[in-house]
Order: sequence, then structure tokens, then C-alpha cells
Amino acid sequence: MAAVNSGHASAAVSPAAGYSLSVVVPVYNEEAVLPEFHRRLAAVLDGIAGTAEIVYVNDGSTDAGMALLADLHRSDPRVAVIDLSRNFGKEIAMTAGLDHAGGDAVVVIDADLQDPPEMIPAMLRAWQEGHDVVLMRRRSRAQESWLKKATARAFYRAMGRMGTIDIPEDVGDFRLLSARAVAALRRFPERSRFMKGLFAWIGFPCTEIEYDRDGRHAGETKWNYWRLWNFALEGITSFSVVPLKIASYMGFLVALVAFARGGYFIVKTLVYGDPVPGFPTLVVLVLFLGGLQLMALGVIGEYLARMFIEVKQRPLYLVQRCLAPAQPLTVPAAGPAIDIAAAHALAATPGRWPSR
Ligand code: UDP
Ligand code: MG
Repeated sequence: MAAVNSGHASAAVSPAAGYSLSVVVPVYNEEAVLPEFHRRLAAVLDGIAGTAEIVYVNDGSTDAGMALLADLHRSDPRVAVIDLSRNFGKEIAMTAGLDHAGGDAVVVIDADLQDPPEMIPAMLRAWQEGHDVVLMRRRSRAQESWLKKATARAFYRAMGRMGTIDIPEDVGDFRLLSARAVAALRRFPERSRFMKGLFAWIGFPCTEIEYDRDGRHAGETKWNYWRLWNFALEGITSFSVVPLKIASYMGFLVALVAFARGGYFIVKTLVYGDPVPGFPTLVVLVLFLGGLQLMALGVIGEYLARMFIEVKQRPLYLVQRCLAPAQPLTVPAAGPAIDIAAAHALAATPGRWPSR
């Protein structure tokens, strides 16, 4: 436990002798890009000093993606495939990949070639310098519409104000994590997995590398504005209780005004009698308060819904098939610089690959 909680650069891995790298790739309907993606990634991994595994997580693709992945598994001994039982969404797919990744360093990368695999050697260098987390900051978002950019900016600003943690802007899921950072992430039991928030929550020595985010190589994005809105809602409700507070303060304020006004009316009626004016005031007040109450109830409902999901304690994901890499990551002869066994014990994931 101490290993995870002591955030010291000196305690990070010093992978001088030999190291292993896991690359986690969530895949959902990416048949158009997969072959090209794998070609580019494999070329990069051929050039690095350490041993590598590629953990593809098939997130319930409905295209020929799984067949393609099985082919890659046959032709490349570094390839592992986790076939989820259905589409669980990218956050869960990444979690499944991280749960199975056994490298001293783990890189999470999109399959659509928006995150260039050619950046991996630079990320490894930053990790070797002693950083547990290497964030990739997008220098340009050239391909994205101004509306998407503006909404993203507004979201990060809102998160920054309301949240308890700072979520770096212009940083996606493309990043490198050390074994102990991954072990830390495995200890999060929550079902609402706002990965950007979780990544930020764990802390550890961290550095950033800037890169140019390419456009999608082929296929199309799975994000539409409705999904993005829900994603933002997930982020805010997972990491901030400020909306609940706003709801209660608004209620308090309105009640205060209502009491003062009520007192005024009572006194006025007692002194001057009541000639029955004020019908519009009544209607306006009823509508206003009704709206306010519904809004507050809605906010409470959002949190309640998430509690409902959490208390059910359902498994995060189900795996229907697991293809272990033909050439598993081996611990270097000299012994790893960090106690990988201890890191994994922390993670409490007994046996990464089921025995075949
Ligand atoms: N993805 C996934 N499950 C999903 C949606 C997406 O595993 O339900 C994967 C997808 O295959 C890709 C990555 O997540 O590798 C990013 O998806 P996408 O390109 O659609 O998102 P964007 O780059 O537009 O944010
Ligand atoms: Mg993409």
C-alpha cells in the first residue's frame, strides 16, 4: 500500500536494464483503421528496447473487428485480445485493458490513429526520467469544429470551478502510466468511471508532452453531442457535489425571501384588511417555486441514480473471450527494478490471463 501512496519520483521505476511495455487499445468498430494502426504500432514497438505486449480490447464491435483482431493475434506474438461480451463504452474498455496490462509501463492509445503511435518512444523516455504519468497535450485541435472546442472549454472551466481536482485541459486518454499508477487505478471500484477524473485523482509525478492530434484515419467518431453532454454530466457528478450545494442554497435563499414576504403580508392584512388583490403574484410564486423544486429534485436525482448504480455492485465488464499473447511479457533475467509482484498484489487481480 505504501508503494502506491508514496508519490516520489525516486521511487518510480528505473527501467535501465530491461523493461516491459503494455499498449492498451480500446476498439469499437474500427475495421477500417485496424490493419494500418497495427502496422504503425508494431513498427514503433519493433524499435524500442524493452519487450512489449499489445492489449486490444474489443468493445463489442459489430463489424469484422474481432476477426481482424484474432488474425493479428495469430500473426503477432505480442498481441493479446480481450473480447468484451458487449459494448461497454470506451471508459470501461480502457479499464478492462488496464486490468490485464502487465507491463512496467502502460500506454493507452486510440485505435483510430488520432494518437500517433510514433510518440511512444518519447513517452517512454519521459517515464524513464522518473515520471509515473506522461500526459499527451494536444497542440492543435485542427480537425474539430469550433462548437466542440467551445463546449470542451466551457466544460473544463466548470469542472475546474466545481471539482476537487484539476483536470488538465486538451489532454485526452492518450497517456503513459507506470505500473504503480495502473495498480492505483485498479483500486477504484466505482461503476461511473470518468477516467479523465480518475487519472487526475491518483496524482504521482507527472509530465506533459505536446503533440499534434491527427484527424481520424478512417471510420467515424462515436461521440455525438448527446453522448458528450452525458459524459460531462458524469464528470461533474462523479467529482463534485457543488450542484447539490447550489440546490440547497437556492432553496434556503428563496425560503428566506418567502418568509419575509409572508410576514409582510400578514402584517399588512391585519392592519389594512384584505381587498383580494395579488392574484398574479400568487400564480407567479407558485410557478417559480414549483420550477425551483423540480430543478433541485432533478439534481438530487442525478446523484441518486449514480448511487443506485453503485450500490448494485455489478461487475464493471464481462469478458467473453480472452486471447493471451503468444509471447507473454517476461520478467527480465536480472529481475525488474521495481517489485512488479507487489504492484500486482496491490491491484488484487489474481492471474491476468485465464489458463487455456
Ligand atoms: N471506443 C470504444 N468503445 C466505444 C466508443 C469508442 O472502445 O463505445 C474506442 C474507439 O474504437 C477508439 C477510441 O475509443 O479507439 C476513441 O473513440 P472515438 O475516435 O470515437 O472518439 P474521439 O476520438 O472522437 O474522441
Ligand atoms: Mg477518435
